[in-house]
Order: sequence, then structure tokens, then C-alpha cells
Amino acid sequence: MRIVLLGPPGAGKGTQAQLLSEDKGFERFSTGDILRRHISENTPLGSRVKDYLIKGELVPDDILLQLVRNFLKEKNLSPILFDGFPRTLTQAKGLDGLLEEEGHPLDLVIFLDLPETEIIRRLNSRRICKRCGANYNLITQPPKVSGRCDRCGGLLIKREDDNTKAIRERLRAYRERTSPLYEYYERRGILIKVSGMGSPLQVYKRIIRFL
Ligand code: AMP
Repeated sequence: MRIVLLGPPGAGKGTQAQLLSEDKGFERFSTGDILRRHISENTPLGSRVKDYLIKGELVPDDILLQLVRNFLKEKNLSPILFDGFPRTLTQAKGLDGLLEEEGHPLDLVIFLDLPETEIIRRLNSRRICKRCGANYNLITQPPKVSGRCDRCGGLLIKREDDNTKAIRERLRAYRERTSPLYEYYERRGILIKVSGMGSPLQVYKRIIRFL
């Protein structure tokens, strides 16, 4: 099974991807996590993409398409969850081409819907684990021990791009380049819209009804 999690930044894609992979065994292709890992490990790719992430701009399509090609070569037999990818029409068409080649087209696109005021509130209170990348929210999903990850004990930090300027740019990139994907997938009849309001578990229960 191949699923895309679509939605604005801060809608809860990462949290739901985490739950779906732990509970249902999906392999996650979480492009934000992959890119942040390259940056923290100082790889050549990390230095190429660092400025884009800090500013909240989209990384060029050719880089993302190369990443997905490599991922599919390794994981093409597993159920896959695409989280934060695709984010442009070029990426969506590239992904379709690759999945068609291997004979496993997309089954479902889950659009997580959240009003912009709630998005900004969530991004400002979001924390991630520096070690394993797990997501937290100081208001809706706090860790058991303040400042520490429940899963691995790593330090919780604010993402460098969760600041007012980068958030504005990420929302602009979303509106201009990612939101057209809603119609692209809706026309194919594979898109479902799920409210991202409420606790992670409430949202998760809405999602799994469709699996
Ligand atoms: P995320 O963790 O999904 O919010 O992604 C963080 C940042 O990584 C984005 O603001 C972009 O700079 C970059 N990024 C992640 N996924 C993509 C993508 N599919 N296309 C372009 N840039 C991406």
C-alpha cells in the first residue's frame, strides 16, 4: 500500500506518520526528517539544502526526486507512507512515474485539514527530539518529562524553521506550490479529507477508518 500524507505545515503529518508506522508497519518517507538528518550529519547534501530549510523555502525538485528514487529502490516491497512529499506538481508527477514503473500506484492521499490560526499556534509550541526526530507539542502533546523525549530520552528542541519569518515563508510555499496537489489527487478520486483538529489520537482514529 502507498499513502501520501498531504497538508499544510504544522497540520500533524509527522505525528500521524509516526503513529501509522509504529501501529501499521508503514515505511516512512519523511523528507523533512531526511533532510534535517543530512544537515546535522554535515553531509554534502546537507550543506546544499541547509539554507532552504532555515528560510522555509522548498528544496529543488530534482534533489527530492533523487531521494525518492533511492528510497524506492530499497523499500519497494513494503507498505510506504509519504510524509511531506510530494510538495509540488513536478514532484507529484515524478512520484507517479516511479510508482507506475514498479507497478504499485498510489492507493490513498490523506489531506489533513487545519485552519491557519491553529497552524501558527501549533508551530510556535512544537518541539522535536534532537536525537530521533519525534514530534511533541507543549500544549496538546507534552512529553512526560519536561524537555526530554519519551521514546529515547533525547533533548527536545525548537525547530530552527519554527520562527515567525520562516513560518510565513513555509505557508506561502504551501499556498502557492503545494495546495494545487489537492485538486490533482481529488480528480483521481484517491483523496480523503480529514480534520486535523483535536488530539493526535482523535485524528489517528479518523484516519484509520479509511485504511
Ligand atoms: P517538514 O519537516 O516536512 O516541515 O519540512 C521541513 C523543510 O524541509 C521544508 O520547509 C522544506 O525546506 C524542506 N522540504 C521537506 N520536504 C520537501 C519537499 N517535498 N520538497 C521541497 N522541500 C522540502
